[in-house]
Amino acid sequence: MKMRNDYKIVIGLEIHAQLLTKTKMFCGCSTEYSFDDPNTNVCPVCMGMPGALPITNEQAIRFGVKAALALNCRVNLYSRFDRKNYFYPDLPKGYQISQYKYPLAEHGYLPIETPNGEKKVRIRRLHLEEDAGKLIHQSDKIDTAEYSLVDLNRAGIPLAEIVTEPDMASPREARIFMEKLRNILRYIDVCNGNLEEGSLRCDANISLVDPETGRSTPRIEVKNINSFKFVEHALEYEANRLRRFFEGDKDVVRETRGWDSKLQMTISQRGKEEENDYRYFPEPDIPPIVLREEFIEEIKGELPELPDAKKKRFMQMYNIPEYDASILVSSKELANFFEECCAKYDKPKIVSNWIMTEVLRELKERGVEINETKITSKHLVELLKEIDKGTISANTAKSVLERAFETGEMPNEIVEKQGLKQISNADEIRKIVQKVVEENPKVVAQYRGGKTKAMAFFIGQVMKVTRGKANPKMVNQLVKEALESPEE
Ligand code: ADP
Ligand code: MG
Ligand code: ZN
Repeated sequence: MKMRNDYKIVIGLEIHAQLLTKTKMFCGCSTEYSFDDPNTNVCPVCMGMPGALPITNEQAIRFGVKAALALNCRVNLYSRFDRKNYFYPDLPKGYQISQYKYPLAEHGYLPIETPNGEKKVRIRRLHLEEDAGKLIHQSDKIDTAEYSLVDLNRAGIPLAEIVTEPDMASPREARIFMEKLRNILRYIDVCNGNLEEGSLRCDANISLVDPETGRSTPRIEVKNINSFKFVEHALEYEANRLRRFFEGDKDVVRETRGWDSKLQMTISQRGKEEENDYRYFPEPDIPPIVLREEFIEEIKGELPELPDAKKKRFMQMYNIPEYDASILVSSKELANFFEECCAKYDKPKIVSNWIMTEVLRELKERGVEINETKITSKHLVELLKEIDKGTISANTAKSVLERAFETGEMPNEIVEKQGLKQISNADEIRKIVQKVVEENPKVVAQYRGGKTKAMAFFIGQVMKVTRGKANPKMVNQLVKEALESPEE
């Protein structure tokens, strides 16, 4: 049978976002867990000692409401915690405190830009819960590990779980959704959005539907996805594997699978029979969360300008293309940097060009945000003004910027110290052109014989002699003059 390619892909995501509170969800322990020694930020509550009583962190509720509003959710005035019971060594209580029946917020959506236009991904719910501890196995292979260590620093850190409706129709859309969600959570300062460190985690559900028969494959849940690239790769892998279901492959069953980034494939973790029955029941030690409308309004008032609104404003206010605007708003820090530059230098498109190419390349190489570098808007603006004045060429400016990223020195200093000032003295350039022409009679003859491309050779030679400092326009013109002047 031929492999068909027209199956409809159905994807829904469950995302856990670690909230940026100073203390844990139900106790006063610090949420710092990556740098501190294991099991130092713990207390009877987050260690699950019998009789210890949890107290809800108000800041976590505020962050949850803020995220819910940014995702266009309806915030429930009444929500409640439940116990989700299961046994695992990273869960000392034997249950996780979560919100099951009455979540903090519901019925939201997030518009995403797909290759086929804008579409809304519905958010089913956003609820609060606590994180579990961390297990460190003695060896990679859990089955053969001689021992495992437990670190409870992470136990009890507040999470917002965001569950979407199965509205994404391709792995690409899932990735676009995740990127946008992360950007928003970072804009509103409720989550640092670091996938590698696990501050933002994604479980992806996927199934395929045969459009002719309406028949659907079993649903697969893929866990352990810790980068945007892997969201897409893992789901592509699964979509391909799920196709075999329609050819009668009996191995395609409903199950939970994990993404192995080394093997670039998903691996079965547990089947449907092994699914837990969580025996949810209302958490008896914590009163329900009852919110006032004014509380929600107050938080609404704290919401900053969100990426979509900022993008629209950038396009109008600075008259830049949509493409530029969407890149500039891809991080709050970058957007601020752009605006700071424009306030001091009135050519937004030029600022944008430099940010999108040179600045972003430096940031990517260093793996940092603009505010974590030695560069400020003053640096870029000074650089652009020097180009305008003709002191340096655009090419030289690139290396000056590189140096500024390195040392934090101002562009003027760098130009001065390294003697990078552009040569715009016609006589000086003419002399060099003359010399290069004299030294290469063969190429001159070729040029005069009709091989006009040979001109590039002379321009290159002049640039080489001047170490790229000669004013390119003048070199162009003077080389042309020299080559076309009648033979002496
Ligand atoms: P469960 O109760 O088994 O956890 P839910 O209904 O809560 O299932 O859905 C969990 C996630 O799975 C949601 O993100 C939802 O969008 C997604 N989902 C539900 N049905 C499908 C499906 N047929 N294909 C892909 N994803 C789905
Ligand atoms: Mg679920
Ligand atoms: Zn604690």
